[in-house]
Amino acid sequence: MKLLEQKIITEGKVRPGDVLKVDCFLNHQMDVDFLCQLGEEFHRLYADCGVNKILTIEASGIGIACLTAQFFHCPVLFAKKAKTSNLSDKLWASKVHSYTHNTDHDVIVAKKFLGEGDRVLIIDDFLANGSALNALLDLCRQAGATVVGAGIVIEKAYQPGGEVIRRRGIRVESLARIASMSVEDGIQFC
Ligand code: 5GP
Repeated sequence: MKLLEQKIITEGKVRPGDVLKVDCFLNHQMDVDFLCQLGEEFHRLYADCGVNKILTIEASGIGIACLTAQFFHCPVLFAKKAKTSNLSDKLWASKVHSYTHNTDHDVIVAKKFLGEGDRVLIIDDFLANGSALNALLDLCRQAGATVVGAGIVIEKAYQPGGEVIRRRGIRVESLARIASMSVEDGIQFC
């Protein structure tokens, strides 16, 4: 999506450690009018898939998930970070390795909110190594829900997550795909 690529070039900052900061419009301050246009694009891509639930992960996926859900007129369910000691039989649980914090944690959703009748669109802000998306797919698998696909705002396509997940036959639509990125040379798109 050209508009998003332009926004990333003008407002994004590449940080050491292979992190793109887009906290001026996506990850801290949120440009709601702009994010609505991304939500509309996700709706265009998945409009005929019978989506009845959007699943994301706290915290940075929640905003874009909600702005997407208004076009699908469906609820947003966000996986919460939890302590292993707090897991119960009322929850689906999976593990995530946090790309930006380099830590592992459990993520959970209540069983009552995700089940066999659901046709789920997974939305997240970034796709890098695929740990967050894998955990969300795993929650859906446990629940017996159907995943129609994933909508990602920014995919770092030089990292393996997207390719590995697509090879499993899962539809992944990313609105911007970064081919390479460095502090010295800036950002190139696919
Ligand atoms: P993955 O689990 O695919 O390795 O990483 C995806 C998650 O890590 C996203 O939910 C996002 O919060 C975070 N993430 C990965 N790469 C970046 C990045 O370059 N910038 C920011 N701001 N977050 C990232």
